[in-house]
Amino acid sequence: MADREKATDQMKLWKEGRGSQRPDVLTTGAGVPVGDKLNLLTAGPRGPLLVQDVVFTDEMAHFDRERIPERVVHAKGAGAFGYFEVTHDITRYCKAKVFEHVGKTTPIAVRFSTVAGESGSADTVRDPRGFAVKFYTDEGNWDLTGNNTPIFFIRDALLFPSFIHSQKRNPQTHLKDPDMVWDFWSLRPESLHQVSFLFSDRGIPDGHRHMNGYGSHTFKLVNAQGEPVYCKFHYKTDQGIKNLTVEEADRLASTDPDYSIRDLYNAISNGNFPSWTFYIQVMTFEQAENWKWNPFDLTKVWSHKEFPLIPVGRLVLNRNPVNYFAEVEQLAFDPSNMPPGIEASPDKMLQGRLFSYPDTHRHRLGANYLQLPVNCPYRTRVANYQRDGPMCMYDNQGGAPNYFPNSFSAPDTQPCFLESKCQVSPDVGRYNSSDDDNVTQVRTFFTEVLNEAERERLCQNMAGHLKGAQLFIQKRMVQNLMAVHRDYGTRVQALLDKHNAEGKKNTIHVYNRGGPSAVAAASKM
Ligand code: NDP
Repeated sequence: MADREKATDQMKLWKEGRGSQRPDVLTTGAGVPVGDKLNLLTAGPRGPLLVQDVVFTDEMAHFDRERIPERVVHAKGAGAFGYFEVTHDITRYCKAKVFEHVGKTTPIAVRFSTVAGESGSADTVRDPRGFAVKFYTDEGNWDLTGNNTPIFFIRDALLFPSFIHSQKRNPQTHLKDPDMVWDFWSLRPESLHQVSFLFSDRGIPDGHRHMNGYGSHTFKLVNAQGEPVYCKFHYKTDQGIKNLTVEEADRLASTDPDYSIRDLYNAISNGNFPSWTFYIQVMTFEQAENWKWNPFDLTKVWSHKEFPLIPVGRLVLNRNPVNYFAEVEQLAFDPSNMPPGIEASPDKMLQGRLFSYPDTHRHRLGANYLQLPVNCPYRTRVANYQRDGPMCMYDNQGGAPNYFPNSFSAPDTQPCFLESKCQVSPDVGRYNSSDDDNVTQVRTFFTEVLNEAERERLCQNMAGHLKGAQLFIQKRMVQNLMAVHRDYGTRVQALLDKHNAEGKKNTIHVYNRGGPSAVAAASKM
């Protein structure tokens, strides 16, 4: 048993960590010592049970309430803790204290996740990965709630609930439904860029350590002189990019569905701390005015050639959660948490998330979720006029006034923390952005970023899943691919023709599938 991995040995290691300590006395939730935890309190050996068995009712009533609502998206995840270290000075762009000087470190929490699956789903599915970072800065928490892709499927937040519905379960069958998935994607061609990333090799990362992260949205940085620039955040893996083949991902989905959680836990337990190099890209307001694309469009990247990566620091993860529920299930990220010097851009998806994330946390965790230890901005002191609510855990700010303004030296504002000013003058309206060049960057990705073998796998993977959708949906999707590049559309159509000729009887609808092996493998199941 000496060679068991650290994750499997957790219980043994916990016991060893207690040294020669005697076990604690077992208690009820109220701390009252318990004499017997193995046998119900009954009238006679055959029952019935007495209501006065408070040892039982205390235990059972709490058990009945153990689950909190699952995250609607990003339900399956792994978390870890560590630090961010500044290695390069960017104070000319940003006054946030987290970047104050080279060498400064800030504690962080990170949560990696898949998106569409439930909390028990397999880690090795083809899906974007969440890569969310919470910086516990001395000016409050900064949450960079990103993904392992620099782009997203849509650019208008009003579509988000429908987009997610299309990726989750059919409301009648409770099954993943390829018609829903591809109907939505083919009706919204702005998804082409992200869909092409998804079905490429990076669609199935080899665990969480071997993928990049991106803040994805455009943000604003403001320096001490109040001068703003737009910015993008990138965190590139120091472990190197590694992806799983479809076959290996499928094998792991059945033999070790928690592969990525295990990999991260073991790496950190073994002192093999994963790290990422942190960069920004910067665009001036003038460049933003004159750029060929909308710089706030989440379906597009900023080219590295035009806006080179500027090194900033590194993220290191060196501590596993002590308790998964307390520190990962309750870990709540919110893109609206931004310290002075980091601000939102007009990006419509970001603007939608500024509302949606704290809203969902208030539902999942309660109005006082920011008081939970893992979410609380523990490196500063919260001083405001919010009071009461369910599960108020601390002194509720004692006797300090609970209204503002007041005359009693209570917390006050300081103009130095004001947001930067920006001009907004256009007419209010619902602007249709569906046709805002959905193809140029996808074409570059297909023709210049991918090599021939990667292109072939992309087409195989895509056709292997698209074949599950109805013919009219397949046709519409291929038309969209044709608009990107004739070769892209033609290859996928040829593969679909082959699949369609073979018949769909044995089709199974999982993203990972692709390639000629898919039908054969499906028929074995
Ligand atoms: P560059 O040639 O400077 O950058 C291309 C980038 O693509 C690389 O730096 C790498 O970024 C990423 N990349 C490399 N191989 C793959 C792959 N197999 N799958 C996904 N991404 C890969 O060109 P541009 O910056 O002008 O971008 C050209 C195209 O590259 C874009 O249209 C976009 O499709 C894609 N891309 C661009 C990114 C950006 O932020 N500019 C980031 C990712 C992709 P990294 O190391 O950050 O993953």
